[in-house]
Amino acid sequence: MKIVIPKEYVSGERRVPVIPSNVKQLMKLGAQVEIEMDMGNLSGYTDDEYISAGATVARDRKALLSSADVVLRLHKPPIEEIDWLKKGSIHISYLDPFNEKETLDKLVSRGISAVSMEMIPRITRAQKMDALSSQASLAGYVAVIVAAERLNKIFPMMMTPAGTIAPSRVFVIGVGVAGLQAIATAKRLGARVEAFDTRPVVKEQVQSLGARFVKIDLGETGQTKDGYAKALTKEQIEKQQQEMAKHCAMADVVITTAQVFGRKAPRIVTREMIMTMKKGSVVVDLAAESGGNVEGSVPGQEVIIDGVTIIGLKNSASHVANHASQMYSSNLISFINEFWDRETKSLKLRLDDEIIKGCLVTHENTIFSETLKKLM
Ligand code: NAD
Repeated sequence: MKIVIPKEYVSGERRVPVIPSNVKQLMKLGAQVEIEMDMGNLSGYTDDEYISAGATVARDRKALLSSADVVLRLHKPPIEEIDWLKKGSIHISYLDPFNEKETLDKLVSRGISAVSMEMIPRITRAQKMDALSSQASLAGYVAVIVAAERLNKIFPMMMTPAGTIAPSRVFVIGVGVAGLQAIATAKRLGARVEAFDTRPVVKEQVQSLGARFVKIDLGETGQTKDGYAKALTKEQIEKQQQEMAKHCAMADVVITTAQVFGRKAPRIVTREMIMTMKKGSVVVDLAAESGGNVEGSVPGQEVIIDGVTIIGLKNSASHVANHASQMYSSNLISFINEFWDRETKSLKLRLDDEIIKGCLVTHENTIFSETLKKLM
């Protein structure tokens, strides 16, 4: 079975889907692996390392993709490249299936079995395949490092003969995987950290990291069976904004990570709230690409509103491309290991398996995922 790994051409992408040590593992399974030339350059992995691990290297992208039984990549395939894929081949990548109808239609019409990495279910057996979580941890770290670099203050308390410097105040909104890592990183740098999330179960996790949980009574909130937040009502969002304004006004750094699975990110920090913040403070919006938690944030850009720097982080994990590649690659290899048939030395997507039921979005010229079928 031939596994192909093409180079990523999405602007600003520095990660690579599979690293050389994981190619070695695929070879051990009995797969043939071919990569696109120079694929790992930006994340620090050379063609020679892939060759030493057992891969061959191709220059011709179209020929490479046309020969694949399995394609492993990060981003959704461009529409024209789906035409190059063999009918019945397996394509594993992020797909953003809730927003990419045209891509899904094309995958269906070409008879591709497409696995969406966003749709890996949150069950214990699939934790090691969960790319949303692996990349979100890194994003939380990156958000704090970027904020610390932009802030005109230091994070820790410092007592010197020239006087005492108070620690910076960091407010984290949204305490999922990224938010927890942001709290941990800001604490390690010595900041005073507060955090808020609509899921009350998060309180203890925040406190165990030494941060303060901001309590806002929004009435019924809760979470889905997969641990995702439920969307708030308009009234709840307004109440949250009112309460949150006080904490934003006290903060030197606000980091927002709030997401609601399958929907646009909630707008939490308004322009009015930004106007009450201290001049020189920094807001990092980790949800900038999925709709933005912060009014005025622009993905991939830094804007200044009334003296406050608003950073719309884009593809945050790519800022630490070497480790992000290592983790994403490990997620992919765990998926392949789970569904590799040792006898036939091929990838067999068991259609009755809970993981496949969650993440296989197209198969044999139809939409396979029940979640997507319901939405369409
Ligand atoms: P996410 O990226 O969907 O959202 C980030 C955070 O934003 C969540 O904590 C969510 O509650 C919060 N949020 C949404 N709306 C908000 C609002 N209006 N105000 C403030 N916060 C808001 O979530 P995630 O980080 O992927 O994970 C969510 C949970 O799932 C976490 O508790 C995590 O531990 C859990 N999880 C479980 C597994 C597993 O069991 N295999 C894997 C990964 C994550």
